[in-house]
Amino acid sequence: MTTLPSCDNLPTHTLTVDQAQTRILEAIQPLIHTETIPLKQGLGRVLAAAIIAPFNVPPHRNSAMDGYALNSQALPTGLQQFRVIGRSLAGHPFQGTVQAGECVRIMTGAVVPQGADTVLMQEEVQRSADHITYQGEIKANKNIRHPGEDLAQGAEVLSEGRVLNAADLGLIASLGIAQLTVWRRPKVAIISTGDELVPVGQPLGEGQIHDSNRYTLLGLLQRLAVEVIDLGIVPDDPIQLEQAFQRATEQADVLITTGGVSVGDADYVTQLLERLGQVNFWKIAMKPGKPLTFGQLGQCAFFGLPGNPVSTMVTFLIFVRPALMRLAHYPDAMPITYKAKTLTTLKKAPGRQDYQRGICHQDEHGQWWVKSTGFQDSHVLRSMSVANCLMVLAREWGDIEQGTEIPIMPFAPLF
Ligand code: AMP
Ligand code: MG
Repeated sequence: MTTLPSCDNLPTHTLTVDQAQTRILEAIQPLIHTETIPLKQGLGRVLAAAIIAPFNVPPHRNSAMDGYALNSQALPTGLQQFRVIGRSLAGHPFQGTVQAGECVRIMTGAVVPQGADTVLMQEEVQRSADHITYQGEIKANKNIRHPGEDLAQGAEVLSEGRVLNAADLGLIASLGIAQLTVWRRPKVAIISTGDELVPVGQPLGEGQIHDSNRYTLLGLLQRLAVEVIDLGIVPDDPIQLEQAFQRATEQADVLITTGGVSVGDADYVTQLLERLGQVNFWKIAMKPGKPLTFGQLGQCAFFGLPGNPVSTMVTFLIFVRPALMRLAHYPDAMPITYKAKTLTTLKKAPGRQDYQRGICHQDEHGQWWVKSTGFQDSHVLRSMSVANCLMVLAREWGDIEQGTEIPIMPFAPLF
């Protein structure tokens, strides 16, 4: 691998990816509002209050097996006989007390009757009409689940900040809790900017293209605990842009625009933000996605992403997603990277951190390998569709030789 140290001197107004991420996360504070939702809607939501067990789970002593409940006290070893005096089924407990020489037929999950302290598995006994016989030593506490064994009354079952998964939903249901107090989801408005953009379902005129960024963003956002406000396409017109920005700030916590943040003649987004809000920075030493505007517009955090479809996706994953996760009280906001060896040589110029599209796989020895998807231009959205990871190539690196170990960022948890 060739490495040039000279690129440590960044041009003025240019930030490294790390610096930009840090500044964004410093400027973003988790939302302070909570809401109450039905348990059924809890998947992926973040608890704003701990879940405390209101009672023991399981609430009663119950059998872990189908078998016979009896009292093990003072029984001799060897062949023994017990009279079957009744049944205890799940949901239908036996009402009496088991005396010496007696037993109760019991099913999994059923209450262990009074007087019994152990359960013999049905496979271990011989049943005849109203008796069972058993050969061997009978020990107390076999095949019995005790109250509070899963969760003890008063215990903190899930703490504040927990991102609820399927197991958690079941756990909460086992406590009989129907409503959850969770952090409100960030409201995220999205706008595509560009005179050339046409919505899907309408024919293209000369020089026009379909707006694809809104669909990638919708997909990316739907994987997060956020509420999306789709404000559609806005042309490169300062007045219409200002009106759209106004609509966004009235309802959203975050506004994401794509396009119009370069220094082209029709790039009004940054200019407008300078006038209406506060611009934090707009050049990052990364590829793709060099121009990026981050700022504040009223109560809205503002992200102006570059319009090239790959740049939009990469800058969203690297900067916007961690910020949204922080707003939403998610822990560990940064995308996870793993190490993989390259199967191909990778072309790269020192100076910017590259996020090249790769296809990775794990071999039978557990080693991860990655190869390039080929052509890496930032307008080639197909490269993101073909890829299953980004290869994260450090700013100072030059060309990367085959077999080098590099960080990769798998798409699977991201979108
Ligand atoms: P811009 O950032 O506005 O200079 O746009 C850079 C490139 O991305 C241009 O080729 C645009 O046509 C293209 N582009 C901008 N917005 C979109 C969009 N929403 N969908 C697809 N391509 C876009
Ligand atoms: Mg444009």
